[in-house]
Amino acid sequence: MAELVVVGSVALDSVKTPFGQVAEALGGSATYFSYAASFFTRVHVVAAVGQDFPKEHLALLEGRGVDIGAVQVKDGKKTFRWTGEYGFDLNEARTLDTQLNVFAEFTPVLSPAMCKAPFLFLANIDPELQLDVLRQMTQPRLVALDTMNFWIEGKREALCRVLARVDVLLINDAEARMLAREPNLIKAARAILDLGPRVVVIKRGEYGALMVADGRFFFAPAYPLESVFDPTGAGDTFAGGFMGYLAQRGLTDATSLRRAMVHGAVMASFTVEDFSLERLKRLDPAEIKRRYEVFQEMVHFDR
Ligand code: AMP
Repeated sequence: MAELVVVGSVALDSVKTPFGQVAEALGGSATYFSYAASFFTRVHVVAAVGQDFPKEHLALLEGRGVDIGAVQVKDGKKTFRWTGEYGFDLNEARTLDTQLNVFAEFTPVLSPAMCKAPFLFLANIDPELQLDVLRQMTQPRLVALDTMNFWIEGKREALCRVLARVDVLLINDAEARMLAREPNLIKAARAILDLGPRVVVIKRGEYGALMVADGRFFFAPAYPLESVFDPTGAGDTFAGGFMGYLAQRGLTDATSLRRAMVHGAVMASFTVEDFSLERLKRLDPAEIKRRYEVFQEMVHFDR
């Protein structure tokens, strides 16, 4: 089992979907990622929160064995806040408000042990912070990155600098088109690969996820759910399952990447069944195994 480091947001989210709403619930890219990955391996979170961040949220991560030693609690500062809503097409989030707060002036500091971790995930956060963490790492074996429209529009140049130095980009379809300035997803994937990564994973919500690696395509469907409640965090949870599985196995070969895609899809399928981390909190590891087996059955066919 290999160590896994993540830098990303730890947030208070206010979310409205056609099925309900929550205010100031636990969220953030690093939160969903680390909680999901904790089912597979030891995760270290690099982030910052304000004084207003409820202590029980950090205790929740610690309870899963997540190392929160590099989560800085800043006196007199407020926690990052995101407000978003979804229409009946749950594949598309509309951001209503983003308050960087504590992340506006945050300097990540990794312990010497964390710098040596072989697996690194640069979750959705300011690309300058992603670069800052990447620079502190000694020689990671696999670095993956996620981002979103907010940073593609606002910090494209810094994002391209970090992209040139990562192995895997995980991104949703609309953002892939925006980053590549190309409407066709296959062409967009190729254009993204030209920016640096060796592997690109394009997440397509209920339509599954596509991976392009070494000139070959792999497609993982989404788990066929009848009730999707809130898609917030699905992408980060997918990444948590993906990277968590690879770190657990200590592998980065083509076959493992495919299995990691399915583990990502399995983990994301739980997150969307409830608001915030509620479904993940009730998750029994046996359920992960069962859904993985359903995936195997779902995509199997004879020649
Ligand atoms: P997703 O997996 O793409 O649905 O990610 C949702 C999470 O991303 C929410 O919990 C938000 O707190 C977080 N988030 C939203 N906007 C940003 C941003 N600009 N930077 C970092 N995290 C964000």
